[in-house]
Amino acid sequence: MAAPSALVLKCESCGVEGPHRVLRGKVGGKDEIVFEGVVKCSACGAVRSVTTREPKPLEVPLIMSWMDRSVRQTIEMGPNEVVVVGEELPLAEGRAIVTAIESKGKRPKQAKASEVDAIWAKRADKVWVAFSVNMGNRTVPRRVLAAPDEEFIVGDIVDLGRDRVLVHRIRTGHQTLREGTVPAEEIVRVYGRVVRERTTR
Ligand SMILES: [Zn+2]
Repeated sequence: MAAPSALVLKCESCGVEGPHRVLRGKVGGKDEIVFEGVVKCSACGAVRSVTTREPKPLEVPLIMSWMDRSVRQTIEMGPNEVVVVGEELPLAEGRAIVTAIESKGKRPKQAKASEVDAIWAKRADKVWVAFSVNMGNRTVPRRVLAAPDEEFIVGDIVDLGRDRVLVHRIRTGHQTLREGTVPAEEIVRVYGRVVRERTTR
């Protein structure tokens, strides 16, 4: 493993916690990551030898669901990080909420990453909802960003930029609804037509 180019440390000379440039050093360790080397404080320029230890990250199995699909992947976590059902996972990009944890054959509400056999999570990003909009003499595709649980209702009027669209059907993975309510994450396509507001005087 290559030595890092800088580390965030508390300086023994000036007391500032900040980046220290690594002048030389090596990284080793079996159960933890051990860095031994010489660093320079970027605040005061003091040079000293340090040894730092941090727990080695784990690759925790993660089953991520999004819309109708589930994908098996892994997430890198510190062994002492705690995973909690209902809370957000620290992802590199996007957001996901933990829906279940498996640990030693049980389904606890929370567990340390080192004791977790698998995490189930659900993506909580915004989703694109596709529309087919009847403009009178033509039908045009449109889309709108929505929270996954935001509800769309047949018969409602939705604002799509400058157009206002009356929803007359909503297709999901299983059926086409002519009445009712569907959360954004289950929608395959919304069919509607542009409504012109009548100006009254
Ligand atoms: Zn310093």
